[in-house]
Amino acid sequence: MALGLPSVLPGSQPSIGELIRAGQPTFSFEFFPPKTPAGEQLLWQAIRELEPLRPSFVSITYGAGGTTRDTTVDLTERIATETTLLPMAHLTAVDHSVAELRNVIGRLAGAGVRNVLAVRGDPPGDPTGEWVAHPQGVHYAEDLVRLVRESGDFSVGVAAFPYKHPRSPDIATDTRYFIRKCRAGADFAITQMVFDADDYLRLRDRVAAAGCDTPILPGVMPVTKLATIERSEQLSGAPFPPALAAQFAQVADDADAVRRLGIDQANQLCQRLIDEGVPGLHFITMNRSTATREVWLNVAAGTRA
Ligand code: FAD
Repeated sequence: MALGLPSVLPGSQPSIGELIRAGQPTFSFEFFPPKTPAGEQLLWQAIRELEPLRPSFVSITYGAGGTTRDTTVDLTERIATETTLLPMAHLTAVDHSVAELRNVIGRLAGAGVRNVLAVRGDPPGDPTGEWVAHPQGVHYAEDLVRLVRESGDFSVGVAAFPYKHPRSPDIATDTRYFIRKCRAGADFAITQMVFDADDYLRLRDRVAAAGCDTPILPGVMPVTKLATIERSEQLSGAPFPPALAAQFAQVADDADAVRRLGIDQANQLCQRLIDEGVPGLHFITMNRSTATREVWLNVAAGTRA
């Protein structure tokens, strides 16, 4: 046991890294910690509705501004103890000293949580502002990966950016640093949301060409309303594919048609990704179940039969 933290008991929860490498594509759902009682109700409704689909794992994001940090740990623990789902906690380095990070990692280990997505996070307040590490904290996800790995028997994932991270000067630099965090001990990676399979495939190819075989799961989010497109651009810093945006613009006045097109596009994207041999699909649910379930039934059920 490293650093005096409660090490995760071997066998207590499956390792997501091992699940991903087992052969069959994994299917996973991402949730965020709600901030209101109504949001909490919505989340648990989504969890209960998605649970029967038996996803490989679910993940819970970590609030950037410090508002949802405790709830991320609490929610991950609750999912671990009250559902049949395998939870993974996201963890960021924002505003945390190494001692505080160790404390959070220790709480996760104490709850039997074995899987962590180690991401650096963005500056609180203005996510596009200058990144300043905590004076006693870590600078990059790479350092966080090492910290989690040396803290116990964790399986660690990292973030990947098909269009490069908005702060990276170019694709080559972005790829180099991505590979460094894989080599620091990441078992797998998950991308920001992708809407075009080729964007994901280019990332996969350049990482493989650089000699890195860390499995990369594409992040997928069905567009159910036009606001989702705008939100995706804000969240990812990447432009929504123009050809796809033009299709949505044609049905912009018809909310049902937008939703149908979004589901249809997500079905096609997921099918293409599966045909291309992705190691899994990671669905960003926005704490709602219906669209994810529809796409799942169209694509995922067939691959598990
Ligand atoms: P890093 O890998 O540290 O990279 C950040 C930048 O620094 C990149 O430009 C990189 O190229 C560069 N870099 C890396 N290492 C070095 C180095 N040694 N020297 C110089 N430059 C370097 N945010 C949250 O707040 N909470 C979440 O729960 C969350 N979940 C996410 C899940 C996924 C799947 C993804 C894709 C993102 C998530 N994010 C989350 C967003 C993420 O925190 C931000 O995108 C953040 O800006 C980058 O995180 P990172 O882990 O990729 O950072």
